[in-house]
Amino acid sequence: MKSLWNETEAAQYPGDLGQRVYTSRLLGRDASLVLHGGGNTSVKLREKNIFGEEEDLLYVKGSGWDLETIEAAGFSPCRMNHLLRLAKLPELTDLQMANELKGCLTNSGAPMPSVEAILHAILPGKFVDHTHTDALISITNTAGGLQRVQEIFSDRVVFIPYVMPGFKLARLAAELYAKQAGPRTVGLVLMNHGLFTFADTAKGAYELMIELVTLAENYLAKHRAWELATPAPVSAPRPARLEIAALRKEISSALGAPAIVAVQGTASGHAFAARPDVAQISQQGPATPDHVIRTKRIPQVGRDVAAFRSAYEQYFKACAATAGRKLVMLDPAPRVLLDPELGLCTIGRTAKEAAISTDIYHHTIDIILRATALGGWKALPAQDIFDVEYWDLEQAKLRAAGKPAVFAGEIALVTGAASGIGKACVESLLKRGAAVVGLDVNPAITKLHKRPDFHGIVCDLTSESALPAALEEAVRKFGGLDLLILNAGIFPPGAPIADLKSALWHKVMTVNLDANFLLLRECHPLLKLAPNGGRVVVIGSKNVPAPGPGAAAYSASKAAVNQLVRVAALEWGKDRIRLNSIHPNMVFDTALWTPEILASRAQHYGLTVEAYKTNNVLKTEVTSRDVAELAAEMCGPLFAKTTAAQVPVDGGNDRVI
Ligand code: ZN
Repeated sequence: MKSLWNETEAAQYPGDLGQRVYTSRLLGRDASLVLHGGGNTSVKLREKNIFGEEEDLLYVKGSGWDLETIEAAGFSPCRMNHLLRLAKLPELTDLQMANELKGCLTNSGAPMPSVEAILHAILPGKFVDHTHTDALISITNTAGGLQRVQEIFSDRVVFIPYVMPGFKLARLAAELYAKQAGPRTVGLVLMNHGLFTFADTAKGAYELMIELVTLAENYLAKHRAWELATPAPVSAPRPARLEIAALRKEISSALGAPAIVAVQGTASGHAFAARPDVAQISQQGPATPDHVIRTKRIPQVGRDVAAFRSAYEQYFKACAATAGRKLVMLDPAPRVLLDPELGLCTIGRTAKEAAISTDIYHHTIDIILRATALGGWKALPAQDIFDVEYWDLEQAKLRAAGKPAVFAGEIALVTGAASGIGKACVESLLKRGAAVVGLDVNPAITKLHKRPDFHGIVCDLTSESALPAALEEAVRKFGGLDLLILNAGIFPPGAPIADLKSALWHKVMTVNLDANFLLLRECHPLLKLAPNGGRVVVIGSKNVPAPGPGAAAYSASKAAVNQLVRVAALEWGKDRIRLNSIHPNMVFDTALWTPEILASRAQHYGLTVEAYKTNNVLKTEVTSRDVAELAAEMCGPLFAKTTAAQVPVDGGNDRVI
């Protein structure tokens, strides 16, 4: 492992707190050291308090901050004296500790200090760095792990046996440090957890971390446990979208809410899931306590969700009895699934949660493989893992969590999503917590949003073969389909029937009618598997109830889709799928309407552009966002008992009224 320290970069971070920010970010840049909010750092400073007295403070990483992107505001200033006195108490529950940590802040607006704050306070260096390094965990989580790390680090670190993070760990570390530290001591090894280093400069603590991790890496290399075999590339999978959606339905039932199920398709995930010993090596437990909450105790192997549920219930019963506390069981749904055919799949209440599990489990695979090569992977006993999973602090966090977003865990598909009403629908659905797949012929769709809950696919909806491939990709990305917004369509130049060319007529029918028929037919089996029932919204047109001269092909195509949806509502009600239509009119903020076209149409009617835009009963302008918000609401609880409705969003049209 190489030090990323750079003098020019470092000079841009003045002061001790600045240096603290800089090397915290250096640690955060390496995912094999810390992942997604894992790890923490601190600096001890002396400042004047409100009475003008000098006071020692510990600036320690606050919760909710990631080392990679942390800023000065991400460090919480705790009174050192208070932390050191806490470390001497014979006992303190974790809830009491959380209360004390909050209470000893000199800035009431600072984030909650790390639960490892007391441990940082008792260590001597001005700068303290803590990571959950993969290389060290690969070594500690083996039989004989302690002897191995003693051989690697000898008197340079103090060894702390595994204890759950929190007050007990801080106390034990203080006690063992006082007994064992010598002149060469520069860090702590926390068995099955991670590594601490400390020094009087930010650079010193950081480079010690790199040095000690390099020793661990070299040890693995010397024992032929560092280089992992290159996994075979994944061959093209057979279509499995209905199986995946059915699996997601079962997992959602275990979770008690719709789940995102992301099929990763990575070579390392496939190779791991296909190992003959996968059940044995994956079932022991997560790599560090830090990973427990997000990935659950163990992954599910294969697709038998019922078996996983009952195993989880048994584990809960056995461990809860030993814990001797009254606890409410968490949902018995897996967070990681290993299947010989699908490979690594990750599960979350949201796409972001699933993405975090993905990163964590890819690291877990490397750790397990290295530990296996070193002589045998050995995770913590189930009871220790249970204690973290059912930690008072975690239970309190769950109780404090707000209501999830209305479409959390649900998956929406929007056609014609790169611009106009489709693009606005994507935004309205993302805002309500859905994971959204956008389809469009425009390649810009792939870059519409860069976030884990959006996936853009270039797709020609009129192609009988392109659509199934796009649905396959969408389902592998998020696990199924709950909400479908049929928006894509074309508005051809006006022509009276007498002059309307057959080719144009057919083109309009192909895009506006045939493609929607195909979409509905192909999506039906997926919508049927939606945990909360499928919902479809069709973006129709004012032309359905009030057609215009010169728009025969367009009006006929939209009316035909409208009729198609009404029939679908009759046929699919028994499958808990509801379909509704929206009829917008005069929506000008779309790619169709350039300022020039708008000006010429306004002139045609003898109106100013402003008067033309608001030429309706309410004299109001209708925007893409207005249409999209209604479409999203129609998928939500407000319309739960409504199917086959047609709602205008046109500012009131006297021909429709
Ligand atoms: Zn830790």
